[in-house]
Amino acid sequence: MLDIYSMEDIFDQIIRRDIPAEIVYEDDQTLAFLDINPNNPGSTLVIPKKHARNIFDVEPETLAAVMETARKIAVALRAAVDADGINLIMNNEETAAQAVFHLHVHVIPRFEGDGRWFASWPHNGYAEGQRAEVAEKIRARLAR
Ligand code: 5GP
Repeated sequence: MLDIYSMEDIFDQIIRRDIPAEIVYEDDQTLAFLDINPNNPGSTLVIPKKHARNIFDVEPETLAAVMETARKIAVALRAAVDADGINLIMNNEETAAQAVFHLHVHVIPRFEGDGRWFASWPHNGYAEGQRAEVAEKIRARLAR
């Protein structure tokens, strides 16, 4: 049976140095390298060495290590490129724009007036009663 959770992917190849990447940081659990198609110069991807597909299967300790590396990168990157701010973004599953199925956090430097799309994503409203209904469903799931 095809096991999509342990499939070899392009980021596994970067971890093994089978394909080149501009690596900026590495420790026991994580790797950080420049995105080959940056949203802004310096856009960095932080990944766990232990394979996870995305937020839905990652172990909490692995995610914690990834987020700590993302924090380090954010601090260094802001200073390195003199950014005005930083976005951290994680896409999970195809519908949410995930293209590489190896968990990764985008650390994206932002510059005043750069006009990147996520600066102005649409904020929508709720239909009558929908907000309370959704909140109740989430609380019920968390209580299981
Ligand atoms: P996603 O849409 O899955 O959140 O983002 C995947 C990111 O990985 C994209 O921003 C893309 O540019 C980047 N990427 C895909 N393949 C490679 C690669 O071979 N090397 C590097 N450095 N980045 C890659």
